[in-house]
Amino acid sequence: MGSSKAGERPSGKAAKKSRKESAKKSGRKSAKKDSAKKDSANKAVAVAPPFPATGPGRLPAPKPAPGHLQERRTGAGPSSATEAFRVPRLVPPFSSWSTVGADIGPESEKQAEKAMEDISERLAQLQERLYAQGQAGDRRRVLVILQGMDTSGKDGVTRHVLDAVNPLGLHLASFKKPTAEELAHDFLWRIEKQVPEPGVIGVFNRSQYEDVLVVRVHELVPPAVWGKRFAQINAFERRLYRQGVTVLKCFLHISPETQKERLLARLDDPEKYWKYNPGDVDERAYWDAYQAAYADVLRRCNTLVAPWHVIPSDEKWYRNWAVAQLLVETLERIDPQFPPADFDVEAERARLEQL
Ligand code: AMP
Ligand code: MG
Repeated sequence: MGSSKAGERPSGKAAKKSRKESAKKSGRKSAKKDSAKKDSANKAVAVAPPFPATGPGRLPAPKPAPGHLQERRTGAGPSSATEAFRVPRLVPPFSSWSTVGADIGPESEKQAEKAMEDISERLAQLQERLYAQGQAGDRRRVLVILQGMDTSGKDGVTRHVLDAVNPLGLHLASFKKPTAEELAHDFLWRIEKQVPEPGVIGVFNRSQYEDVLVVRVHELVPPAVWGKRFAQINAFERRLYRQGVTVLKCFLHISPETQKERLLARLDDPEKYWKYNPGDVDERAYWDAYQAAYADVLRRCNTLVAPWHVIPSDEKWYRNWAVAQLLVETLERIDPQFPPADFDVEAERARLEQL
């Protein structure tokens, strides 16, 4: 988790303000440099200075791996969110993933707001079509899987991205510590029950992946048990694919500094106390173990039928835009269509006019 200590910075809000101001002054490029700093801080957590690290002694940014996102960004830039955020077949080292925005999409909160208006409209249209064709017997549906450290924004994405979507065609599920009943079954038992019906967009806030993340980090089952789960998850997702479920897996990637800011912000505001869980601070102590577990998830479960996407999530507006855009692109690939009438339209009109 980095060497951050309490009291380094006056408060989460002040820190955020100064971060925003410095980003404003030097534009987005510096935000990217910050990202490199953060990445290097992520990589060498035990020795890296706390963010924002400046001056001598700062660790150099790690070199991007071949085919890595950042390398592509220096060229023509990705042409879609899918291309920008999808984890490539040759998975780059975890430490080189950026937690701030890429060379695609909005460059400011204001731009993001504007972009989200169009995306929301598009999302609503596509969802209506998906739902309509589902009612007519088409088996296709979408399952968005949201994973990420505490405060990475799993709830925020659900709220902001799916705002425009008709609740009728939405199925939300969040997975907490399993109940006694759930524990008595295979780990996929509770997951399978929440798979969206045809025509529906499902959103998982946490998922089957907790069973190779928290379970591994806290040694809740022996390695021999969780070790087999990567293959079991891949088989499960292949099964979903064959059933017409497009799985959109998003890892909301934040830096440890962002998490600290967000946890502090919850303590600064009595209206956010309810979001604060003292247990999150305990979990934070396991930052490195979680990152290692996530690295394995990205490496071992990045399949052709259900690839992972890494969403830079230090800026909430960028994160929301990225997931919304990915979802739109996913639905556009499905290209849902309103089903044709299975009745005689003119005859029905005539019948109604007579009544
Ligand atoms: P939250 O998402 O903040 O409501 O917290 C849910 C908690 O449930 C997190 O600490 C998760 O790590 C935990 N959790 C979710 N799935 C599992 C699981 N399969 N085994 C143990 N803990 C879990
Ligand atoms: Mg939580």
